[in-house]
Amino acid sequence: MTTAPSPSRAEVIAPATIDASGLWEYAPAPESVRPAIKPRYGHYIGGTFVEPIEGKHFTSFNPATEEPVTEVAEGSAADVARAVEAAREALPAWSALPAIERGKYIFRIARRIQEMGRELAVAETMDGGKPIRESRDVDIPLAAQYFFYNAGWADKLPYAFAGRNPKPVGVCGQIIPWNFPLLMAAWKLAPALACGNTCVLKPAETTPLTALMLAEIFDEIELPAGVVNIVTGAGDTGEALVNQPGVDKIAFTGSTSVGKKIATALAGSSKKLTLELGGKSPNIIFEDASIDQAVEGIVQGIYFNQGHVCCAGSRVFVQEGIKDEVVSKLKRRMGQLRVGDPLDKNTDIGAINSEDQLATIDRYLECGMQGGSDFWQAPGEVPEQGHWCKPCLFENVQPSEVIAREEIFGPVLAVMTFRTPKEAIQRANNTPYGLAAGIWTDKGSKIFDTASKLKAGVVWLNTYNKFDAASPFGGFKESGFGREGGLHGLRAYTNLD
Ligand code: NAD
Repeated sequence: MTTAPSPSRAEVIAPATIDASGLWEYAPAPESVRPAIKPRYGHYIGGTFVEPIEGKHFTSFNPATEEPVTEVAEGSAADVARAVEAAREALPAWSALPAIERGKYIFRIARRIQEMGRELAVAETMDGGKPIRESRDVDIPLAAQYFFYNAGWADKLPYAFAGRNPKPVGVCGQIIPWNFPLLMAAWKLAPALACGNTCVLKPAETTPLTALMLAEIFDEIELPAGVVNIVTGAGDTGEALVNQPGVDKIAFTGSTSVGKKIATALAGSSKKLTLELGGKSPNIIFEDASIDQAVEGIVQGIYFNQGHVCCAGSRVFVQEGIKDEVVSKLKRRMGQLRVGDPLDKNTDIGAINSEDQLATIDRYLECGMQGGSDFWQAPGEVPEQGHWCKPCLFENVQPSEVIAREEIFGPVLAVMTFRTPKEAIQRANNTPYGLAAGIWTDKGSKIFDTASKLKAGVVWLNTYNKFDAASPFGGFKESGFGREGGLHGLRAYTNLD
């Protein structure tokens, strides 16, 4: 065997070797891959990385170690203006390109994401704190799937909108959160590009890395300059993008409070707007459900990605007769969840994304404890360094309590009960949000009856937190408007005659 340099851009910590058949042998664990992360990134504008006009950068930290991951540019209004100008310049040629050619670029992006899956997964986990198992098996494959799916639509839009002559909207400003960084970028960029638009994307300030690695992919596949521009920064940068003349549409995913500000800022303007906002989704367990499966569904619903999930099943409603059994099995299962190093493939619960988010979660825990409901947290130690919250639940919660009403965005569950299906529906719908819901029952008729009465954009039946590029996702009420995914997702990026 001979030691040899890595065949890809990834650096493998354990030396890679070539075996007798000439194939690469890697250490088996995905965490052995070290993605090629630059110490500093500029904005990606007009097909190249450029220094920020004001010369400012900020650090993105690994929330599990509190060590710096990389430095990124701090976007000013002037940077945003430059990116929008680049997108506007690229628009005529990109939108006039034969649709089949546009599709080919998007297919290339999808394939490259697949090829770089391990590197992107490790980078996502380092920058955001989510378990490598989730980055590797959920986020990155789904990001590729969204590009594949929308690439397929690029030359079929006249069939998607038969008789309606679909045209691109123009320059799209897209602002995304930190909970699924690359996946949210894919949700935004893939349909926009398929429909012939050009984009300016602003990733969240705590997780900019994989969007910048995606920019490197755009470079590699020779996506025409200016078709996608990426400006990094915090809220001010997002605000500048919202208010920038020359933007035809804003697509925002984030908190309801910021979504309201954006809606106010755009009221009366000609800019189109879609908002994917927060949630406080109900997960309803009927007494005829398979209890073990439902317990897994509750765990998947609220503890997946540390509960940093807009559609998290953060309110569980259990039918009274089975409440004790469900809660006791749930606690046992919670005790088995491994909290710790997100790069360890056996980890179930990674790091809380930021110090600020941990402080928010802690405030809610304090509030819940003062509210009188019963608090329980899984036992066990967490690492000394980093931001952590072990999975926890509140039992006997009153629907009026803050922890039952407000989005916590952490691994915190509010358990409540109901007696009749009617009461379950009434309690589940008693929220300003309307993003998602789950139903667990053995009875098909109950599934359809309950699902049809829930005011939620997505209703999962005997499962939870399952996503697919062909399936539209989006909310009602304070969870926003517009849909992403499926045919509905394309509609948001087309003007129809
Ligand atoms: P956030 O609203 O604080 O930030 C989201 C993005 O908006 C970030 O990129 C941020 O820099 C930017 N931003 C902040 N202030 C802005 C402003 N005034 N103008 C323009 N942009 C601004 O949300 P977050 O904390 O990053 O993400 C968590 C929230 O996102 C949760 O409420 C969650 O439910 C929601 N979310 C919703 C979905 C969905 O599809 N509905 C998906 C993921 C997350």
